[in-house]
Amino acid sequence: MDNSLLLLKKIVQEAATAASPAKQMDYIVSAVRAAMQVSVCSLFIADAQGVLTLAATDGLDPTAVGQVRLAEGEGLVGSIARSSHPLNLEDAAQHPGYRYFPETREEEYQAFLGVPLVHLRRHIGVLVVQERQRRKFTDDEEAFLVTIAAQLAPSLSLGQSHFSGETPEQDSATTQRIIGIKGASGIGIGTIHLLIENDLKQVVDQESVDTELEIDRFRAALSECRDELKQETYSLKGDLPGDVVAIFSFYEMLLDSKELSQGVEHNIRQGNWAPGALRSTILQYSTLFENMEDSYLRSRAEDMWNIGNKLYSKLRGHKTVTSQDQNLILTGDLISISDIARYKREQLVGILCQSGSSLSHTAVLANALGLPAVMGTGKIKNLIAGVPAILDGHQGQVILNPLPAVVEEFQQLANNERLLFEGLEELKELPAVTPDGHRIRLFANTGLMADVSPGLKRGAEGIGLYRSEIPFMEHENFPTEEEQKQIYRHVLSAYAGKPVTLRTLDIGGDKVLPYYHFNEENPSLGWRGIRFSLDNRPIFMTQIRAMLRAAEGLNNLRILLPMVSRVDELDTFNLLLEDAREQLKAEGYQVQRPPVGIMVEVPAAVNLLRFFASRINFVSIGSNDLTQYLLALDRNNARVSHLFDNLHPAVVQEIFRIVQQCCSIGLPVSLCGEMAADPLAVILLLGMRIETLSMNAYSLPKIKWLIRTLPVKVAEQTLQKALSMEHENQIRKLTRQVLNNHSLGKLVC
Ligand code: PEP
Ligand code: MG
Repeated sequence: MDNSLLLLKKIVQEAATAASPAKQMDYIVSAVRAAMQVSVCSLFIADAQGVLTLAATDGLDPTAVGQVRLAEGEGLVGSIARSSHPLNLEDAAQHPGYRYFPETREEEYQAFLGVPLVHLRRHIGVLVVQERQRRKFTDDEEAFLVTIAAQLAPSLSLGQSHFSGETPEQDSATTQRIIGIKGASGIGIGTIHLLIENDLKQVVDQESVDTELEIDRFRAALSECRDELKQETYSLKGDLPGDVVAIFSFYEMLLDSKELSQGVEHNIRQGNWAPGALRSTILQYSTLFENMEDSYLRSRAEDMWNIGNKLYSKLRGHKTVTSQDQNLILTGDLISISDIARYKREQLVGILCQSGSSLSHTAVLANALGLPAVMGTGKIKNLIAGVPAILDGHQGQVILNPLPAVVEEFQQLANNERLLFEGLEELKELPAVTPDGHRIRLFANTGLMADVSPGLKRGAEGIGLYRSEIPFMEHENFPTEEEQKQIYRHVLSAYAGKPVTLRTLDIGGDKVLPYYHFNEENPSLGWRGIRFSLDNRPIFMTQIRAMLRAAEGLNNLRILLPMVSRVDELDTFNLLLEDAREQLKAEGYQVQRPPVGIMVEVPAAVNLLRFFASRINFVSIGSNDLTQYLLALDRNNARVSHLFDNLHPAVVQEIFRIVQQCCSIGLPVSLCGEMAADPLAVILLLGMRIETLSMNAYSLPKIKWLIRTLPVKVAEQTLQKALSMEHENQIRKLTRQVLNNHSLGKLVC
């Protein structure tokens, strides 16, 4: 076969953009048949029971589509699915497993090659080619079909749920179940709200049909944008720092500027359609900004494009979300923190992020906001805004167009959950102490301004992890010392008298700043956490000074360093800290040296704990990254997320080793990853005698309930059993049983 690589690429790309699963399957069979120049290409798709149905064919009788069905192991196709192995036969009918289906009229074809379609260890189906004459398919042909099957399996897996043997094409009102990954637990019932990705830069010029109509369209978009911006500024005022709100004033100024409106209208009168006229006007002004000397003014070019995209979305008729819009399931390919910040918390019932995994920061943020989230579904084809949906964060699934009875069932489940949490509110004032007297301190994780009060409301005894990168992500530039001081002060004073652990900047990996790009092949192993900060001293020094100043007079600050893996990182930090204190003292501030701790999240840190001990005051286990690095599993990669598990025996054993080491060298130890909010994992952590757990505020009451119910003795026995287990499923079964035995089964849905 000539140009097989090119052909392969073309087929995969075109298949991915097909309008519906049925069209995609039809395209695949005819494209593969043409590429391999064979008589027949057929596609069999497996249902949940493993039954394979002929879904598309080019060559066999088309009326057989949906009619021919084989159980796993039945006939040649069924045996390929069972063995997950290709079958290349000179004469299919001679094979003992051959089964003849008269409706296909396949008797005239002798040569047979079938390959399995498997995605994430799940059987998707079988792809078959056939030829009239008796011959064995060549190695090249077999390699081509195996390769194309591997590449098509992911997108076919999305269509798998669309496909039912009877009616391959489904209308938009048909119930559809999308499987993803658990991001944040809980149930959200509402409608799909798509994050619109507009790229004005890609718009091409087009002749306008009616100049006056185009001008009216532009003016309407302008006025809609102005109203929307006023509304956004008003609704965000309480939640975001003043300087972020000030950016909105700049947007307002741009929208009011004569240069913009006259420029676009002039362009339209020259014959261009409104989007084209808008693009060329924005380009003209953004270039002016880009060429300015002053770096602040230069970065305003980006604002011009932001506002241009906003106007473009209005020109495309996208409906503005108003405060009346409720029960939204925010849906997008990637959902950033600033995307979420555009909505009032009460408007959202869930987050559906088509990429990412349970530990990507979108999921961490959803947990922090108490929003159910499903991640990593892959691109959902033909998803329409406004479709009713149930987002089930417990199971990691989304049901589109659910039947009324299903809605009722989930409503009931959600109500039970609400009642459970309301019932736990009375625990707020009670200490987290086990029935046999073991005291655990429960702290909250935060990062958002608006995120401070949920922790206090639920009885957090302090902040165990303040992710300082989050305010950095909400800004348009690195925040100044004064801006940072105000943000940190807000948190420190809200928790006056209680410890507040501010973590220094941890960007890199999936935590990117909109204004600081660095391209890395492998960002999780690259310029992250303290490495970035130490290499960017002015930024680090500004942050340290801001933290120290924010704590003046409150003295409840603890500084936590992310991604530490070497002693010299601590030595350098301690020098910087001293330097900052000296500077501030000389400037007249009364600053104290705060306790300093490290995140134990890089495996190397575990072996260096005894060397770190004299340099630090406490340790916090970052189980999210520790799991990522220990298991060599990218926490954002949906493909391997089913393997990502905090209960993996290696993770459990490693965390136990850390806790034991910290105890023996006298270092206070806490855990602040998502594991602290998982009731099954908390049983084991209790058994390890961990002293402090820090988690999203919404999980505090349930974890407190668990601690107040479960004797440490039981937790210790459970841990001992878990340490002898070889698989996370055994550990999960064991810990579930413990919850059930103590009437805590409701904690895990
Ligand atoms: C962790 O890695 O466990 C952690 C708490 O930090 P982050 O999730 O912000 O990387
Ligand atoms: Mg981390």
